[in-house]
Amino acid sequence: MERFFKSAEKRKIAYFSMEIGLFSDMPTYSGGLGVLAGDTIKAAADLSVPIVGVTLIYEQGYFTQKINDQGEQIEIPNNWRKEDFLEPQDAQVIVLIEGREVRVRCWKRTYKGVKEYEVPILFLDTNVPGNSEYDKTLTSHLYGGDIKYRFCQEMVLGIGGMRMLKALGFNEIKKFHMNEGHASLLTIELLKENDYHNLDEIRKKCVFTTHTPVPAGHDRFDVDLVRQLMPDFPFNIQELQDAEKKINMTLIGLYFSNYINGVAKKHMEISQEMFPNYPIHSITNGVHSATWVCDEFEELFDKHIPEWRHDSFSLRYAAGIPAEEIMKTHSKAKKALLDEINKKYGVDFDADTLTIGFARRATAYKRLDLLFRDIEKLKAIAAKGKLQIIYGGKAHARDFAGKDLIKKVISLKNSLGPNIKFIYLENYDMTLARKLVAGVDVWLNTPMRPREASGTSGMKAAHNGVPNFSILDGWWIEGCIEGVTGWAIGALTVIGDETKQDDEDARSLYDKLERVIIPTYYNDKEAYAEIMKSEIVINASFFNTHRMVSQYVLKAYFH
Ligand SMILES: *Cc1c(COP(=O)(O)O)cnc(C)c1O
Repeated sequence: MERFFKSAEKRKIAYFSMEIGLFSDMPTYSGGLGVLAGDTIKAAADLSVPIVGVTLIYEQGYFTQKINDQGEQIEIPNNWRKEDFLEPQDAQVIVLIEGREVRVRCWKRTYKGVKEYEVPILFLDTNVPGNSEYDKTLTSHLYGGDIKYRFCQEMVLGIGGMRMLKALGFNEIKKFHMNEGHASLLTIELLKENDYHNLDEIRKKCVFTTHTPVPAGHDRFDVDLVRQLMPDFPFNIQELQDAEKKINMTLIGLYFSNYINGVAKKHMEISQEMFPNYPIHSITNGVHSATWVCDEFEELFDKHIPEWRHDSFSLRYAAGIPAEEIMKTHSKAKKALLDEINKKYGVDFDADTLTIGFARRATAYKRLDLLFRDIEKLKAIAAKGKLQIIYGGKAHARDFAGKDLIKKVISLKNSLGPNIKFIYLENYDMTLARKLVAGVDVWLNTPMRPREASGTSGMKAAHNGVPNFSILDGWWIEGCIEGVTGWAIGALTVIGDETKQDDEDARSLYDKLERVIIPTYYNDKEAYAEIMKSEIVINASFFNTHRMVSQYVLKAYFH
């Protein structure tokens, strides 16, 4: 305990995130945002950046997904044992919610970087004796409950988190980094600490990262609801309310922060258009290399680039690895994935067939069904070169359009003819993601642009030498060198009409699959291996969280 307090005083940066995904079987994450937060913490630990993470515990976890014979998603609660992962702390703080004193305690996890530098992560918990039954559930569900539940959670995260840091002796925090608007209420606590003055002082302390390129994606709350739950909210500050007079968490983050960034160059531009009154910078996301490189490539990198685990930039030197070895290593990873799938699902995917992977949160803008827009066309293409297609991904519990998409693509399975094998894998989580991005031959992504703020699974694929085949959106605008690191689907420009856009993107997808990817894969293995290598050399060496956290240090944290 004493050591912890000593190190607490040295912490300069507090990183607040609604979800932090550190380990696959600790279900405190749902997808991209949480995995990114975990990868951020891991890189900060590798780089000895004096950071502390703050998030909620989610006793019920994010759900385990089953899919029934009708293609329907079944959500199974995930009652994980927090004691196995976390140490309870004695400190308790109080947050006044709707006039009730809600007690908040916390659990600590320490993450050790590659050089043993330790980063603490605090998991806030309201399941404390003395709280009402409702308040006890406030930290149970990730993205569950109604709008009121959500605002209460954000109060626990933002205000409870600030008070917990103080209670644990984190008195030297210079920067509060809000990873998305969920954490924005921490600024209101800072405002209170400053007697509602000294805006400049507050702004110097705040860093805000936005992740959402569509207005509907930003958390907003009715003034009446906020008045009921948090009567001391500064309703007089007009800038915190949007055109429809709703309290907007993104606007709060923007108003109180000196440094604001989007998560890719394109996303920065889109955000700048949405919020013209604030200067918005960009730091493109990354992934934590040592987390996302599969077992087989770990071995290869250890042999050729021994420093890669503590220096992701050194993946550039994969240039010196013979393409043949990369191909061989990939074959092993592919075999491992297919063996597992064949065994678990009783199917017969084979190692010589071009295998396309697609897995992400099932939601409308990700267009899970774009690959199947013209099934006859897809069948004709597969007649020239067989295809295997592996899908995965959960839909948020109340995303009914997302669930329909899962059902739809699964229902197409029997109409694909003899040359296409298709499977939808259950329960896409970090463990499955790590195997999947490494074991397929092409990583496909088809978001409706410009809605993919960044995307990170393609970066994981790049770390395993798997070429991306993707819409030019988010990070792929920066990572795509046509025919060198992978392939683009469609053009940079947006058509405006969604149906036309779908048609045009599907046309481009089929065209490249037929004329470029299939012939290269089946007839020119050497050329294919060079593309795999370039993904590592050019993209993995840049799209990693060592580079990303270094940029936060350079541009945001120590200024
Ligand atoms: C990396 C990851 C994501 C995010 O991938 P995107 O490409 O941004 O959709 C989502 N879920 C899991 C389990 C992941 O590992």
